[in-house]
Amino acid sequence: MAVSEVQLKEALDSLKDTGVRITPQRHAILEYLISSMSHPTADDIYKALEGKFPNMSVATVYNNLRVFREVGLVKELTYGDSSARFDFVTTNHYHVICQTCGKIVDFDYPALDEVEHFAAQVTGFNVSHHRMEIYGDCTECSKKEAH
Ligand SMILES: [Zn+2]
Ligand SMILES: [Zn+2]
Repeated sequence: MAVSEVQLKEALDSLKDTGVRITPQRHAILEYLISSMSHPTADDIYKALEGKFPNMSVATVYNNLRVFREVGLVKELTYGDSSARFDFVTTNHYHVICQTCGKIVDFDYPALDEVEHFAAQVTGFNVSHHRMEIYGDCTECSKKEAH
C-alpha cells in the first residue's frame, strides 16, 4: 500500500472508533485531503468533488471538515485571509506560504521546544503550542516575476 492509502485507512479506522459514520462523501473528502497535500479550502474540495457528488454543497463539505477537525483528523489553518484551509494531520510540521498565489507547502524541522520552554519561563504561561510560518514566493511565482 502507498503511504497515502495507509493514511486513509488509519483515518477511516479512527472515524469508526469515534462512532462517526463514514459516508461516500466523507470518504472522498478524506481521500482528497490526503492525496492532494495542497491544504485546500472547503471550496477547493467542493470544486474537485462536485462532479462525483452533484447534490453536495460547499456547506456539506464544510460540515464534514468540521467533523474531521473535532475528531482530530484535520487542522483548520487560518492566516487572516478570508477562507480557512484544511490540513490532514500527520506529524507536526511547519508551513512555507507563497505571498503571491497563497500556496502552502509543508516542511519538516525539528520541533522548536526550547522556544516554548523559554516563553513559559519568561511569562509564566502554561504554553500549549506555537505556530511558525515562513513567507516568500513559490518557484512558479518567482519565475513569473523574472519575465
Ligand atoms: Zn506562488
Ligand atoms: Zn501542512
